[in-house]
Amino acid sequence: MADQIDLKEQPHRRYNPLTNEWIKVSPHRTKRPWNGQVEKAMLDKKPAFDPGCYLCPGNERAGGHTNPDYTETFVFENDFAALLKETPPGELKDGLFQAKSERGLCKVICFSPRHDLTISLMEIPQITDVVKTWQKEYEDLGKLEYINHIQIFENRGSVMGCSNPHPHGQIWAEELIPDIPAKEQMNQKDYMIEKGTSLLTDYVRSELEKKERIIFENDSFVALVPFWAVWPYETMILPKRQMRNICKMNDKETRDMADALKRMGTRFDNLFQTSFPYSMGIHQAPTDGEDHDEWHFHIHYYPPLLRSATVKKFMVGYEMLGMPQRDITAEGSAASLRDCSEEHYTLTLGA
Ligand code: ZN
Repeated sequence: MADQIDLKEQPHRRYNPLTNEWIKVSPHRTKRPWNGQVEKAMLDKKPAFDPGCYLCPGNERAGGHTNPDYTETFVFENDFAALLKETPPGELKDGLFQAKSERGLCKVICFSPRHDLTISLMEIPQITDVVKTWQKEYEDLGKLEYINHIQIFENRGSVMGCSNPHPHGQIWAEELIPDIPAKEQMNQKDYMIEKGTSLLTDYVRSELEKKERIIFENDSFVALVPFWAVWPYETMILPKRQMRNICKMNDKETRDMADALKRMGTRFDNLFQTSFPYSMGIHQAPTDGEDHDEWHFHIHYYPPLLRSATVKKFMVGYEMLGMPQRDITAEGSAASLRDCSEEHYTLTLGA
């Protein structure tokens, strides 16, 4: 059996050890002509304060709530929460028809009082405040007896269905562990049982040796396009040392995480000179009282854009029915992001 495949030219499958799934890569197709949709470029210029924005300081939200005149990060319980604290326990088991009640709560975090700033345009101390807010929420929510998993995430850009441009993230805290982190947990656990080491700690070490998919690093973190990336510019930010959750970081690491978030955001914005849309989130150990030695916390970015500010990737056809597929390789995407400046394009344009 041949043991050489040309990852740059040949169609192939790549394995994702975190989810135990495969993705298809078709690098030879990057030369094919494109006659696809061109969307209107997103307008970047926004006011620092928008009287009509329900997330800006002092403004009214739904249900008669008014935001305080906050000056740093501001957290509140979502007025339209997908999960509710009061949900009573319940189960349906009727042959093939199964259901379970879900208990939890949802919060919104305004990253900054400024309507026009994104993480890429905020200063490191402000971003450090956001990271510290995430730590506090993880710790406080994790103490609640009925909260076993905390999903911190940001969904950014109208192309991602995000309804408000004010920089904000969300936290969904719940009783049950959702499917994707549950899968990652199972595979990290299996790896630890088999090898006696942590899957992602070993992965970070191997990527730092190979240097093919690294975008940048600082003392504590590395940003890379994972070998198994599905989205064209999918990336991960991982701590270099194994930590189960974000509360394990010391002050220096907390600051370094803010630095990594800013640099990643800036490179994304510079790639297509647009306020880059994405879904981003932190995967970390559940708060179910177990030790979870297998967990190595990390950040995923899933951006939809493919080749410009207006051309996005669609997960359709074969991908809905078969498996995910990409044309440009993870190595090619990493090289493009590595070539991007860490000075934000709007600042260099003097805008
Ligand atoms: Zn993950």
